[in-house]
Amino acid sequence: MLRMGVRLLSVVAVVWCTGLFGQDQDFSKVQIKVSKVSGNIYMLEGAGGNIAASVGEDGIVIVDDQFAPLADKIQAALKNLGITDKPVRFVINTHYHGDHTGGNAPFANAGSTLIAQDNVRKRLETGGAAGNGGSVRMEVKPAPKAALPIITFEHDVTVHLNGEDIRALHFPAGHTDGDAVIFFPKNNVVHMGDDFVRYGFPFIDVTSGGSVQGMIAATEKVSTQQPPDVKVIPGHGGLSNLDDVRAFVTMLKETSAAVQKAIDEKKTLEQMKQEKILESWKKWSGEFVDSDKFIETLYNSLTGTKGDFVKHN
Ligand SMILES: [Zn+2]
Repeated sequence: MLRMGVRLLSVVAVVWCTGLFGQDQDFSKVQIKVSKVSGNIYMLEGAGGNIAASVGEDGIVIVDDQFAPLADKIQAALKNLGITDKPVRFVINTHYHGDHTGGNAPFANAGSTLIAQDNVRKRLETGGAAGNGGSVRMEVKPAPKAALPIITFEHDVTVHLNGEDIRALHFPAGHTDGDAVIFFPKNNVVHMGDDFVRYGFPFIDVTSGGSVQGMIAATEKVSTQQPPDVKVIPGHGGLSNLDDVRAFVTMLKETSAAVQKAIDEKKTLEQMKQEKILESWKKWSGEFVDSDKFIETLYNSLTGTKGDFVKHN
């Protein structure tokens, strides 16, 4: 059990270093970079997930809110646009992870109404574990009441502000089981949450009900049904387009097929790693999710293995 404990601690350290969950990070030096995406839609980058903002005569709607210590900087960056003195009226969460919902409590305390899919509220409320069902794993503490979404939806919800029908649509079992993709149809922008990221092989939170099949379904639907020139805000990384999404979908399908083939050939997870079965896609291997961790992710996703929740402190 000691060996297991050491392994888990080192894995947690790796996750922390990447900043995806934010613990142990120094936010004092983080600056919020604001870019205009289209019309009255802006993208804010700081630490954690990208933020989309609709800023206009009715006030402000943001998608995701990074980390609590950044809330004041995010508010200031929105005010500095000089477009409106009206507040952030709504915050829509793309999923429950702390690098996208960490600012929920300070925004709610400042008067914003939090909106998210039903499972986001459930997972924030109870806490639990996030992971790929294998070596990527971390505990998630229950969130304070102020951080819980007040309005939740099962399938979709629309916020009618700033002359736009901002629509949040649930895509089941992708990055997590509570993902929403947010559409700004008038401005031709979509925020994909962590169903689409630019840091390489994606983290799929199999432990929280995610699956590669669901991630493929979500990204493929967006890439085939959105206008060809739609501007795509990824969960992490720079502003993207549908070519980028299509390349991501292709990689997900091809790597899934490679792992499925190995499963059909009765290979073990260790054999798949030793044989480097994802070598052809190694340009996607990243610091957070390298090829071995992505093999684990796909193996667990395709075999329905969610991993055990092991308490380690
Ligand atoms: Zn996430």
